[in-house]
Amino acid sequence: MLTITRAKPWEEVSEYLNPCQRVYIIGCGTCATMLHTGGKSEVLAMKDRLIAEGKEVTGWMVIPTACDSLTRDALNENAEALKTADCVLVMSCAFGVQAVSLYSSKPVYPALNTLFIGREESPGHFVEVCAQCGSCVLAHTAGICPLVRCAKSLLNGPCGGSVKGKCEISPDIPCAWQLIIDRLSTLGQLNQLEEIEPPRDWGTSHSGGPRRIVIEG
Ligand code: SF4
Ligand code: SF4
Repeated sequence: MLTITRAKPWEEVSEYLNPCQRVYIIGCGTCATMLHTGGKSEVLAMKDRLIAEGKEVTGWMVIPTACDSLTRDALNENAEALKTADCVLVMSCAFGVQAVSLYSSKPVYPALNTLFIGREESPGHFVEVCAQCGSCVLAHTAGICPLVRCAKSLLNGPCGGSVKGKCEISPDIPCAWQLIIDRLSTLGQLNQLEEIEPPRDWGTSHSGGPRRIVIEG
């Protein structure tokens, strides 16, 4: 599974870098490298672009896993080049951007948009698999998430609009409930559909502010 990212429009990046003359660039060696959004090649391309725009790049690095707490060590090891920068441009998912913000006293800006947690279906094709809703229903849905895979996030069966196994919003998108029903059928668990999923408690979702959890040691 990867955190799926996409480059922000250049105009947006350019606008918030406006007050910064000297920029330090950070990429990520994990998801962003695999997605070609924030690996070494993209970081070097960004460096060239910033220089072409008249900026000074005081340094760059690709942190093995930017969202990791080891990001602090990477920042410390490159403290000199970071010190001379006006800001830091991070080419990783939002987790990496927030990790850099946590350990850096400089303004930190994202170069990427973070889209979703996804799986690579075929080379270069990623599909969302989880929205981290905090109350997983996969036990009743044959391991296929209706929250993200169904266009209406239906939890108690299909809407009735699918055609030949495809979602009514597009003939290119499989109906999530068709997938669920097919798999339940293969598993001999179609009776699972007779259990009504009760009204959902959205209290576990992100709508109440940042979620926290304590894992007992
Ligand atoms: S039900 Fe929630 S936790 Fe489970 S896969 Fe779907 S979004 Fe993720
Ligand atoms: S056609 Fe299937 S996937 Fe699309 S909204 Fe209806 S139940 Fe959900």
